[in-house]
This record gives sequence, structure tokens and C-alpha cells, in this order.
Amino acid sequence: MTQDTGFLEQVDASFDRAAAYTDFPLDLLELIKQVNGVYYFTFPLKRDDGSLEVIRAWRAEHSHHRLPTKGGIRFSSLVEEDEVIALSALMSYKCAIVDVPFGGAKGGVKISRRNYSTSEIERVVRRYVFELAKKNFIGPSVDVPAPDYGTGSEEMAWIADMYTSMNMQELNAYACVTGKPIAQGGIRGRNEATGRGVVFGLREACSFSQDMEALGLATGLEGKRVVIQGLGNVGYHAAKFLLEEGAVLVGLAEREGAIVSENGLALEDVVAHRRETGSILDFPGAQDLSESRQALELDCDILVPAALEEEINSSNASRIKAKIIAEAANGPTTAEADAVLRERGVLILPDVFLNAGGVTVSYFEWIKNLSHIRFGRLEKRFEEKSARRILEAVAGMCGGSVTEEVVDLAVRGASEEDLVNSGLEETMATAYQGIRSTRLRLGSEVDLRTAAMVIAIEKIAVAYEQRGIFP
Ligand code: NAD
Repeated sequence: MTQDTGFLEQVDASFDRAAAYTDFPLDLLELIKQVNGVYYFTFPLKRDDGSLEVIRAWRAEHSHHRLPTKGGIRFSSLVEEDEVIALSALMSYKCAIVDVPFGGAKGGVKISRRNYSTSEIERVVRRYVFELAKKNFIGPSVDVPAPDYGTGSEEMAWIADMYTSMNMQELNAYACVTGKPIAQGGIRGRNEATGRGVVFGLREACSFSQDMEALGLATGLEGKRVVIQGLGNVGYHAAKFLLEEGAVLVGLAEREGAIVSENGLALEDVVAHRRETGSILDFPGAQDLSESRQALELDCDILVPAALEEEINSSNASRIKAKIIAEAANGPTTAEADAVLRERGVLILPDVFLNAGGVTVSYFEWIKNLSHIRFGRLEKRFEEKSARRILEAVAGMCGGSVTEEVVDLAVRGASEEDLVNSGLEETMATAYQGIRSTRLRLGSEVDLRTAAMVIAIEKIAVAYEQRGIFP
């Protein structure tokens, strides 16, 4: 490990750097920066062999300027209190940047998922919810968890089931958690949302010719050479959508090592190979790197860290060759590495913006649960019929007719997934434009992370001011 600044200090330092560009009173800035509450607790897990184990867990609610608070639950043997607080702070800033009306929160359970059976994990999840409920740290209007590292839709389904069983009278009980399976009140597109949002953000960033010229790159994602670290939910989906945009996956890193191919790695074949062999290594046509982190130093246009924090640090920053770093993971770049890379002119798309796709679509899911209706259900067919009538009227006016084929192409009403993806694209593109123009307004020395944090601080400060706390 390096001696780099810890994750929480890093998040606070990026807050301080941005705060210097605002003129809010210091006490208001302090109120925004500090975590509102942290609940640390332990509980027993009965293992399948009958033995008992004490599990350590946290939930941090960083900011109550908007409620509910929102943030994922991380299952990791490495999780610590400061990390949970740092992640909850990032959630507050992230929600503000993409205009999602939540305060930030985060949960952590100190276990490595791989060492437990499914039924053990289910018992951990249910007990975690029970403990949160006892202290009012969960609920549709209080605090709404979601997936994060080591958790997914299955855990969210158990959370929803546990909470609804404990709150039978609560009409909106299913809105207590997002990232659920569709049949349990989930929304189409949530599973892919963070990775898809990463690609929407990258696409927007790569669309500015002036910025790309400064990096010696052409505009657009087509042909860009990409390296991805982490083949989990976020890394896999980011890779999938980048390939759909015409990018080339030249390197991929997982725990067991990394693989490289200048001709491009076929993502689905790598996934199938890993499923069969238990490893991405020895993938036909690719070269193995036994030390996984070497992949971060590969020559490429875009590096996407999508595993854990502090992977790009002072021990490797000077050897990173990527021109763009797309922070899909939370906190992948330490403050020290950030300074080295900024000095070299690397364009860093910060986590606090780039991985906000997950919480954006979680927001849509929460709204769906509160409104008790699928997006598009009321208007889809109406839109189709209106479009059909317009087409036929125009064709009639021109003295012709339209074929069924043309009608089918032109009149498709929007499905839930279309609306979710469109809302996500709008959110990521608009947020990037806002960050970029703030950066231009603040001056050439300002990086995108600082500009994004200035926006976050301004929006949270205004929310507090509107509540009369700081008139
Ligand atoms: P995940 O558990 O689905 O996947 C993480 C992957 O990283 C796993 O496959 C793991 O084996 C791999 N990994 C771990 N250490 C590694 C290493 N040293 N080198 C290479 N690979 C390694 O988790 P996820 O949900 O994809 O989350 C990844 C990151 O994205 C985290 O920082 C998380 O906080 C962030 N994030 C996730 C979401 C979400 O919606 N899931 C939203 C926002 C941010």
C-alpha cells in the first residue's frame, strides 16, 4: 500500500478545493461537508455449520438537506467506517450534480461475499435491514439503499421483502430500496444504469473537438482504445456499451490478472471463458499479465477503473499512459495521483459525476414505486395511435399512402426502458455540459472534479438556504 491520503481525506480535500471557488459562509460549508450520522452495529450470523460469527456493519447518512437519503450497500472484507462516510459524502455531491433530490448515504457490511453461502448472505441481509429499521435508518422517505460493490438485485429483493414484511400497512413500502428485480418493483435498465451512464458521460466528453484536440484525439468514441479494470456490474456494462459505440477493448483486469489484445477483446467470449475456467487468463488470442494492476499502465486512450478505490495512486500515476481516465468506480484516484495526472494534462472524468447513472435510475425506480405505475403504460399506445394518424394525414395530403413497414418504424411508442435510457442520457449529457461550462467559467487551472464539486456545493447550499437554515 502507498502512503497516499486516505479516501475520506481525499473526498474532503476535493470539497475544500472547490469551496475556495465559492463565497458561502464557512459554517455553511462545514455543515455541508460533515457527515450527519453514522450508525455502527454488530449482529450475529449463524453459519451453515452451526457456528456463530459476529458481523460488523455500518450505515452513514451524510446529508439531510434532501430526504430520503440514498446510497448503495457494499459487502467487502475491506470496508471500514471512514470509507462508508467518504462514500456517503460522494453520494450527497453526486445526487446534487445530477439533480436527483436525495441526500447522500452509504452502507457497508464487513464480509467477503465469496466466503459465504447464498443462505448465509440472505440471513446477513435480512438482519442488516432489521437492525437499520430499529434505528429508523431505512424507509421510503428516510433512507433508501441500493446495490454497490458485492451486492446486486438479489440482495435488494431480500431487503424489499424484509422491509415490507415489517411494514405491512405502508403503501409505499417497496420504495424502501432500489435496484430490485423487475418482479419486485424494480425498473428496466437499472442493472445496466451505472455502466450505461459512464458511456453517456464519456460520449459527451469526447464530443467536444477543442477538448479532444488538446489530448491529440479525434472526437467520438469510435475506435478509441479502452482498458477496463473490474468485470463486475459497472465494468461489464461500461465495456459492453463502449463496444457498441465502436470503441476497442484492448485490456481487461480482474483480481486473478489481466489480459491484453491490440486487436480487441470480444467481451462476451471473455465472460464465457471466465465462467468456464474461473479466470480471464489464458483467453485465446490474448496476452496474460500476471500482475493485474499492470493493466492500468497500458497504452490506451481511455482507462476505466471500475473496481475499488485508490487503485491509481502515487506508486503508479507517473506510468499511466491513458489520455482520459473515466472514474466508473468511487474514489479510484488518490489525491496525489490526481495531482500528477492533472499536471500531465490527462482528462479525468470524476466519479462524483461519471458513475451517477446508478442513482439517477434508482431515482426513476423510486418514483415508479411511489406512483405505483410503470413508466409509459398510460401513453405508449396513445402515442402510437397519434403518430399513425399524423402519418396517414400527411400521406393523404400529399396524395399518397404509407406502407405498414414505414408506419411500424415511425410510430413505436416509448417503453419503460426507452424512457429510462432517454432520461439517463439527458441527465448525464446535461450534467457534463454544466460541469464543463463551470470549469471554463472558473479558469483554465480548474479540473472537472473541482468544477463538479463547485456545482454540488452550490446546489446543497441553496437547498439549506431555502429551508431557512442560512437565510
Ligand atoms: P461488483 O462487485 O459488481 O464488481 C466489482 C468487480 O471488481 C468484481 O468483479 C471484482 O472481482 C473486481 N475487482 C476487485 N478488486 C479488483 C482488482 N484489484 N483488480 C481488478 N478487478 C478487481 O461491483 P460494482 O457494483 O461493479 O462496483 C464497482 C465500483 O463502482 C465500486 O467502486 C462501486 O462503489 C462503484 N459504483 C457502483 C454502482 C452500482 O450501481 N453498482 C454505482 C456507482 C458506483
